Amino acid sequence: MSVVNLHAVLPRSCANGPGTRFAVWFQGCSLGCPGCFNPETHPFEPRIPVPPGELVARLEREQDRLEGITVSGGEPLQQAEALVELVSGVRARTALSVVLFSGYSLAEIEAMRFGPVVLGLVDVLIAGRYIHSRRLGSGLRGSANQRIHLLTGRYSLPDIESCPSAEVVVGPDGTLTVSGIAPPGQGRVTTTGREKAASRTETWTR
Ligand code: SF4
Repeated sequence: MSVVNLHAVLPRSCANGPGTRFAVWFQGCSLGCPGCFNPETHPFEPRIPVPPGELVARLEREQDRLEGITVSGGEPLQQAEALVELVSGVRARTALSVVLFSGYSLAEIEAMRFGPVVLGLVDVLIAGRYIHSRRLGSGLRGSANQRIHLLTGRYSLPDIESCPSAEVVVGPDGTLTVSGIAPPGQGRVTTTGREKAASRTETWTR
């Protein structure tokens, strides 16, 4: 059994894909896009280690209140086996949709060992490096070069393009979690961006 090393968990998110979503950010990325909003997600260091089966079990329990799961990072494809275990479990045990953010292009993912399997389990892939000079301040893409791939018929392009670009979530203990994309010209938000993270996450609770 593999373990996924997460950077962050946001159990209810409305700015990381259609509807209310359970969002997770993987820890670790070696792609090094200049201007990445979330350098905290880059180190391959233990942060929130979770067996994918435990995450799937929680999603199964909570699926009546969710539209889907969103997986972001960091770079999810750099924990490919755990990613496959997670999204295949979601597909097998829930009716949730799957949105995946990756810094790799579709062609790069197709060429990876686990890439075709991952692509067969995902509804929407938002793919490509973040390019700071082409930064966007709306929608789900961090920069204009990134591509939205509708891999199943579950969503349309307007469904994806109409998603809020950012959100602030107030937790039961009063803590704030910000996720999404900062408008151009604002510089780096303390918190996070679609490139891609949350400033604060809950501690994983089973
Ligand atoms: S923008 Fe995404 S792919 Fe690029 S360095 Fe940051 S986390 Fe990695």
